[in-house]
Amino acid sequence: MLTRVQLQNDLNDKLQLNDLYITSTPLDIRNQVMIDISDIVDFSFCPYYYDLKNRNPNEINSRILYDRSLHKTIYAYLLALQEDRLDSTLEFLKYRWGKEWIKYKNAKELLVVRSSYKRDTYDNLRKKGIDSIFKFNDLMLQEKQCPIIIGHKYQINILPNIILTGTYEYVREITVRNHKIIQVVKFVTIPNRFNTVISQKFDMELIAMAYAFKETFNVDYFQVVSIDIESKKTVINTYTEKEYNLLKQTVKNTVISIQNDIKCISPDKRCYHCEYRNICINTL
Ligand code: SF4
Repeated sequence: MLTRVQLQNDLNDKLQLNDLYITSTPLDIRNQVMIDISDIVDFSFCPYYYDLKNRNPNEINSRILYDRSLHKTIYAYLLALQEDRLDSTLEFLKYRWGKEWIKYKNAKELLVVRSSYKRDTYDNLRKKGIDSIFKFNDLMLQEKQCPIIIGHKYQINILPNIILTGTYEYVREITVRNHKIIQVVKFVTIPNRFNTVISQKFDMELIAMAYAFKETFNVDYFQVVSIDIESKKTVINTYTEKEYNLLKQTVKNTVISIQNDIKCISPDKRCYHCEYRNICINTL
């Protein structure tokens, strides 16, 4: 069984990669295609959503901004935990959430509120973030843990000509009844856009993270965990070749569709959860 010490010895060798290679569109590198798992998820949600997001990279919508700010807060907390410099967990989280949420805004965005709708969205997300960090704090205090990997990029040859990239959100060691267990963890910060109850198990980003971990560190036994902060729900998943093959097939089909400009757009109830609804010409 893989232990934290063995894993930490392997980290330097196996986690080195060039962040410059990470791209939001499939990139040809010596006849190989590189694509990020977040693009696979976006394209699966709606090909037009994927297009709009990549056509407007500087227009970060409030959903993405919220997710990014909360993740940065969480990573800062886990890093402090790893380095043993957390005096007061909640104070640290409150300070970091305030810093991350305000950091992305320019003076105009902070001082001028263009519409009551935007002001309400901004304020609701600020409050939602505060609620989430309290819940996250409770969740972390329930489990004694040793952080191993925090918010680190991975890349893996998922198919002979396709390299998949993504982020290990969190890898930790916990102790259950005197047994040390390695867990690969994903934090769900916002309700999924697919609006399906099973998605906490069949989460493509989580399956990709587990596959990359298994292949990179050559391990079979570890737990794959999804922590939904808002509902405080933790789900431990078991993935087999079935899920990994499904992931490979999805990645392959998405790359072929993007390369050949194949877009099957069928507006439906997903549009109600889409941040580009206001500018989309295909919406319901
Ligand atoms: S509004 Fe609907 S059709 Fe348009 S990008 Fe969003 S999900 Fe796709």
